[in-house]
Formats: sequence, structure tokens, C-alpha cells
Amino acid sequence: MNKNSCDIIIIGAGPSGCIAAREIKKYNKKISVLILEEHSNIGEPMQCAGLISIDGFKKLGINPPKECILNIIYGARFYSPSNKSFSIKVDKPMAYVIDRRIFDKYLAEQAIKSGVKLKLGHKVSKIIVPHENEYVKIHGTKNNEKFEISSKIVLDAEGIKGNILRQCGFQPPSKIIPAIQIEMENIKINDKEIVELYFGRNISPGFFAYLIPTSKNSARIEAASNNGNPYNYLVKFLKTHRGINERIKNANIVEVIGGGIITSGPVKKTHSNNMMLIGDSAGHVKATTGGGVIMGGLCSKIAAKIAAQSILQDNFSSKMMHQYEKLWRKKYGNEFFTMNMVRTLIDSIPDPIIDELFDTIDKYKITKIIESYGDMDFQSEVIKRVIFSKKMPLLLVSLIFGLFKHIF
Ligand SMILES: Cc1cc2nc3c(=O)[nH]c(=O)nc-3n(C[C@H](O)[C@H](O)[C@H](O)COP(=O)(O)OP(=O)(O)OC[C@H]3O[C@@H](n4cnc5c(N)ncnc54)[C@H](O)[C@@H]3O)c2cc1C
Repeated sequence: MNKNSCDIIIIGAGPSGCIAAREIKKYNKKISVLILEEHSNIGEPMQCAGLISIDGFKKLGINPPKECILNIIYGARFYSPSNKSFSIKVDKPMAYVIDRRIFDKYLAEQAIKSGVKLKLGHKVSKIIVPHENEYVKIHGTKNNEKFEISSKIVLDAEGIKGNILRQCGFQPPSKIIPAIQIEMENIKINDKEIVELYFGRNISPGFFAYLIPTSKNSARIEAASNNGNPYNYLVKFLKTHRGINERIKNANIVEVIGGGIITSGPVKKTHSNNMMLIGDSAGHVKATTGGGVIMGGLCSKIAAKIAAQSILQDNFSSKMMHQYEKLWRKKYGNEFFTMNMVRTLIDSIPDPIIDELFDTIDKYKITKIIESYGDMDFQSEVIKRVIFSKKMPLLLVSLIFGLFKHIF
């Protein structure tokens, strides 16, 4: 193997790329893995609220460093379009609010410690996928100078941009909703252990707005929109929402970020010969919440296993890479499907019906089912529990009632 080639190249040093890289080395130290990252700093620009489930970390086998944990979350309060609300809170910590810059750097360091090579400032501009079992050619630039490198397998972990995957004939995620998030200090936090989620077509169409406390007096606040500029929705939310405007009177903005949230779930095809898509690139994101770190990481671990096996067997055929697609669909396909269905349902329900549903959930203590069976990443179980519970007829009645209100 010369210095211009290696076994596996990973495009992008986000969580998915770094998790996959480290995992490949766990299978076999001798496999050479190189990550190419376009930015000169890992984790920047940050495009994340950093809300990650603790169970998810455990499933990934990641113990996040203390320095990256800003806050611990025990529950959520959900607000309807007309500001009705219900909350769920559990005894044990559910999630961490993390600093993604520190977290991503930690993951990259872990990968490097395991023997992975990382090249920063290397932007991949084009890849040429060969006929089966030949080398992939990767072209790019570093400081305006061209480089060319080849590998047996490429894992595309480029995130939502989708430039490379499009070039290779893959379809990117079909729904990416633009979002704006600000971080504010000196804000009045009602409960530091609770995240706040705000639903409504006038608040955050196609998604929801959130307030995620990062400390007892600071928070990340976001609005997204599939119908016009999310910035306008965020400004309106901050200025006019009854639950927010009073609390931010003395607040100052410390950071503004923008990004795209995938709400359509996995893409149609995530492999070809010599190539696999992982993370946001594959649409491995929860369509309900837009969270992609855990599900992306879990699927990346599967990709790593198949990548390692194919190097060891010297087989980079489409049939071999298909094992990845088969395995993640078998393990997580139902979860992605259910979350997609829920997202489609929420998107199609008019605001008055959401208001009615909120009333019913609160009045008939459906929150108890959520508290008992809720899982931030694997949401199908709690959805099934609600559907097959005695409370379902009540939800259906409020749905019909809300529909009448909406029509008349
Ligand atoms: C506003 C917002 C809030 C979010 N909040 C949460 C949250 O609370 N919890 C959660 O789990 N998820 C959240 N997400 C989603 C989460 O950020 C992503 O799912 C996650 O970062 C995906 O990881 P990844 O490794 O697939 O991609 P990324 O983290 O996007 O990493 C891709 C990497 O590839 C690099 N790259 C791209 N193109 C090239 C190229 N051509 N050459 C070389 N390098 C390249 C990029 O620089 C980047 O470092 C949020 C997203 C947004 C926009």
C-alpha cells in the first residue's frame, strides 16, 4: 500500500465518520483507515442542539467526556399551538446537553488513538467509483492544491450536503428543513432539567421550536420552517410567544447557527460497489426530532463491520456492501419507518386538532404511558403502547372533535 492509497477512506470527520473509523480498527488493526475532513477544525461549524440520550451513548459504547456535558435533562414540556401544555419527567437522567465541538473532537481523538489517520483541510471534490473490485479514486483540494488518493472502499459521511453522493448517482434525503438556532445567556429558565418543545404552523412549520437549557440561565432556542425563512419564525417566536418573550427580556445572544434538519428518514439506497453512505448522508436521522447522532452512529457501526469484512475478504462488490443495507434495515428499519409515519401525521394535522390532542393527553394522563415506555431514540414501542392502550379511543374522539372545530 503506497502513501497515496489506503484500504478505507471516510469522507467527513463528524460523529458518524469517526465512530465508523474507530469501529473498523476494533475489527482489525491492520486495516488502514483515513478520514478526510474539509475543515481545519473538527466540530466546526457546530450545527446541533447537542441533546443526546444517555441510553443512546450506552448503545454506542461511548462515554462522553465530562467537559462536553453542559446539562442533564430529565424530561420535556410540550406546548400546543395555542399554548396548552403537558410535561413528562422521569426519575433518572434521560439525556445530556453537550458541546458538540468538544464531543466531535473527542471522537476524532479516539479514532486517531485506535490507529486511524485524519487529514484536516482536505476537501473531497469528486470520487470515481470503479467497476467492482478496483480502487476508488478520490480527488480533492487542500489549500487550493489538488490531491488524488485511492482506496478500496469509501464511506461517505459528508453530512447533509450530499455533494459526493449526488455525483455517484445516489438520492439525498428528500426533506431537509432549514433551521436557525441561537444560544442565549441571562434567560429565565423555568426548569433546568426540562426541554421545551413548541408545536404549531405559525411557530415552526414542518418541525417544532425548542428551548434547550444549557445551564440555569442559558439555553439554545430554535425554529425551523418548510414554509419561508426560519429566521423570521424565530424572531416572531422570541418576540411574541407568551411563554418566551417575558423570559428573554434581559437576555443576550451568544451564538447563532443555521443548518438543515432531515425529516424524511433514510434514503432509498445506501450502498453501491466499493461505497456506503453513513450518518446524515444516508438519512439516518429520527424524522420526529431531527436527531441523528445516535441512529447515525448505530448504523455506522454496522457499516464498519461490513467494511472490515470486505477488506479482509478482498471483496468490495455491490453484493458485499448490500449486507450493510440489509443489516441496518433489519435492525432499525421499523424504527425509521414508524418515526417517518409519525412525522407525516404531525405535519398533516391542522393546529386545532393538535390543541385537542394535547388536552386529551394531559387530562387522561397519557403522559404516564410516555414516562413508562418512552425512549428518545427508539420511539416505536411507546407509540405502539399508546395505540393499543385503553386511551386510544379518547385520542380518536379528540381528533374528530378537533377536526370539526377546524372545519366549522
Ligand atoms: C439546528 C440543528 C440541531 C440539531 N440538534 C440535534 C440534537 O440535539 N441531537 C442530535 O442527535 N442531532 C441533532 N442534529 C442533527 C445532527 O447534527 C446530525 O444528525 C449529525 O451531526 C450527523 O452526523 P454526521 O457525522 O453524519 O454528519 P456531520 O456532523 O454533518 O459531519 C459531516 C462532516 O463531513 C465534512 N464534509 C462535508 N463535505 C466534505 C467534503 N466534500 N470533504 C471533506 N469533508 C467533508 C463536514 O465538514 C463535517 O465535518 C441537529 C441538526 C441541526 C441542523
